[in-house]
Amino acid sequence: MAYLRFNALETAQGRQPLPVIAPTERLTDYYGVHTFSKEVMRALLSPEAYLRIAEAIDTGGRIDRDIADEVANALKSWAVSKGATHYTHWFQPLTGSTAEKHDSFFDLASDGKAIEKFKGSALVQQEPDASSFPSGGLRNTFEARGYTGWDPSSPAFLMDNGAGGKTLCIPSVFISYTGEALDYKTPLLKSLAAIDKAATAVCQYFDRNIDKVTPTLGIEQEYFLVDKALFVARPDLVMAGRTLFGHSPARGQQLEDHYFGTIPPRVNAFMVDFEFEALKLGIPVRTRHNEVAPGQFEVAPTFEEVNLAIDHNALLMDLMQKIAEKHGFKVLFHEKPFAGINGSGKHNNWSLGTNTGVNLLGPSSKPKETLRFIAFIVNVVKAVHDHADLLRASIASAGNEHRLGANEAPPAIMSVFLGDTLTKALDDLENKSEISLSKGDNVYYKLGLNRIPSLIRDNTDRNRTSPFAFTGNKFEFRAVGGGANSASTMIVLNTIVADQLIQFRRDLEARLENGEKKELAVVEVLKQYYRASKRILFEGNGYSDEWVAEAEKRGLSNIKSTPDALKVYLKPESIDLFARLNVMNHAEVEARYEIELEKYIKNVQIESRVMGDLAINHVVSTALKYMNQLATTAKSLVDLDMINEAQPVKAIIRELSARVVVIKKNVEAMIESRKRANNLTNSAEMARQYATEVKDYFDVIRYEVDKLELLIDDDDWPLVKYREMLFVK
Ligand code: ADP
Ligand code: MG
Repeated sequence: MAYLRFNALETAQGRQPLPVIAPTERLTDYYGVHTFSKEVMRALLSPEAYLRIAEAIDTGGRIDRDIADEVANALKSWAVSKGATHYTHWFQPLTGSTAEKHDSFFDLASDGKAIEKFKGSALVQQEPDASSFPSGGLRNTFEARGYTGWDPSSPAFLMDNGAGGKTLCIPSVFISYTGEALDYKTPLLKSLAAIDKAATAVCQYFDRNIDKVTPTLGIEQEYFLVDKALFVARPDLVMAGRTLFGHSPARGQQLEDHYFGTIPPRVNAFMVDFEFEALKLGIPVRTRHNEVAPGQFEVAPTFEEVNLAIDHNALLMDLMQKIAEKHGFKVLFHEKPFAGINGSGKHNNWSLGTNTGVNLLGPSSKPKETLRFIAFIVNVVKAVHDHADLLRASIASAGNEHRLGANEAPPAIMSVFLGDTLTKALDDLENKSEISLSKGDNVYYKLGLNRIPSLIRDNTDRNRTSPFAFTGNKFEFRAVGGGANSASTMIVLNTIVADQLIQFRRDLEARLENGEKKELAVVEVLKQYYRASKRILFEGNGYSDEWVAEAEKRGLSNIKSTPDALKVYLKPESIDLFARLNVMNHAEVEARYEIELEKYIKNVQIESRVMGDLAINHVVSTALKYMNQLATTAKSLVDLDMINEAQPVKAIIRELSARVVVIKKNVEAMIESRKRANNLTNSAEMARQYATEVKDYFDVIRYEVDKLELLIDDDDWPLVKYREMLFVK
């Protein structure tokens, strides 16, 4: 009898939905109460300090020491009044999760009395013991320590510390002592500055009032929920975040009934609960629904400025994990926790907003603004075309490897979907031959720009299989992994678009200097761009085999493995690009590449070890016991002279035995292959060995184990089954 599995099932089945009570009746009363928001600052700071902070938030400027002291004091009083005992610089190291080191406000005054203390210097800068965070060699090369620095553009917030008290969390960057970025936020902020500058300069051709462009991001987060007891009974989920074995359930997602179904009560309680907490933290969560796969769900907040949206997503993931514990769940953010069932992505809805309140990727009813809209669309398409491989690199990870190109998620081929109407408008523009203008002509009408806007707005065609789709007023990058930090992708997207916009301006200027009329010059440059990048556009089924063949014909990359995808970071063009835009220097790009490789190696290594352990110590041992049982049965039948009846029993024993032999042989070979990989000193070679050799054994071993699951008595099967993990709620 598989005690662990059946006890876990009993626990899971006995759980009831927890009652959840709204903080107060009106959302507006508790929204953001746990954040040190602009409103709180306005109330607590002197007008001068407030202005300086507001300025720093808007322009990313520095803050003087005396202002920092005042802010620190206000922050401390506010936090302590709300029950905070500790503070921490909260940052996002390249491991992919968030990190914090808590310090107490508590201090002793010279007279020995207890006081609460928090100085400006402690707010602005901290030195966590950084030696255990990945640095890709940066700290070794430069200096042993790293430090964290306050990012005033993301508001400080309060987190429950689990023991009744709260911790004040201060969003921060994390850099080496010599100034190299060791985190996601630092280059992200630089990429945001780069695109602001480049896009604003382009906007100036169309509207002089635009002096700031802010990229916006709305992250739809997909996830699975598994009962905590069942989770603990699956060592692969605990250690690797995904199931390495498990036969598909009789009923998977083929009925597609989960998507439209009602949310199970226990899940609903969990959602309502974490949403309340998220709203208190100022995370504008808005939608919740079931996803396609059984046990899969989605949460999406309203879009925000990119840096804030990413902090909020990271915080939301932490929060969901914490609240899930209370409800007896575990949240899986892994890209592909269950084979044969949809994986989880993080759809990055991205656009550009201006200080004048305009969405640059939103069609307008004014022909003049339509030209600007088209200009931004075409430049984004060109950027994605020219740097598709870099975009692919930005989403490369061991987990996402299972999702990309796995016949359900966006493929590993980067393509852009624009929709019929917009494509037609661009085709028309491209085919327009030289336009001659007479006096009094309306250039926008002549260009046909008056007809486009309403068409696009009325036309909501969608393509769910495109990795990078225009969805009416934004682009949706769907290939980002569910467990990823979106900054990795946003750094690349902002950088490539910024670079493209700079190029656009240069090409435009060349024509303007020749005396061309501005609107016509814009159209001419866009025509060229469109022609040069058209092959990246694809409107059909991105999951189909035809597309793979077609993409190859078009010369588009289809980079399947993570180590291959990551290599693109090291190309001289990539290093130049990041340096040119002042986003990352050479050493920082290299370090990131090394860290991603290291993460990949460790991931596959852990999976391989867990796989070997489960296969031999859980599955094979169970199979042997079962064979013994069957042998006794067969013998008894023979003793009873039931020779024929003993035949099928013997056949099962033979099949079990054959499968056990294959498993044993392949696990041993996998271990040997791992040893060879581990002996390599070059991390790129090691990663390749893991990707091409070690991983090759996974499918073979899994195939046999999953067959055994069908053969062995259900009472004895040691691993919680797919149907139990996916359907017990
Ligand atoms: P749909 O996928 O059906 O378009 P929504 O309209 O709800 O769904 O949008 C999905 C996500 O896109 C949400 O997080 C939403 O806030 C975000 N979004 C909407 N407009 C923008 C924008 N201008 N910039 C960035 N994200 C946006
Ligand atoms: Mg969507």
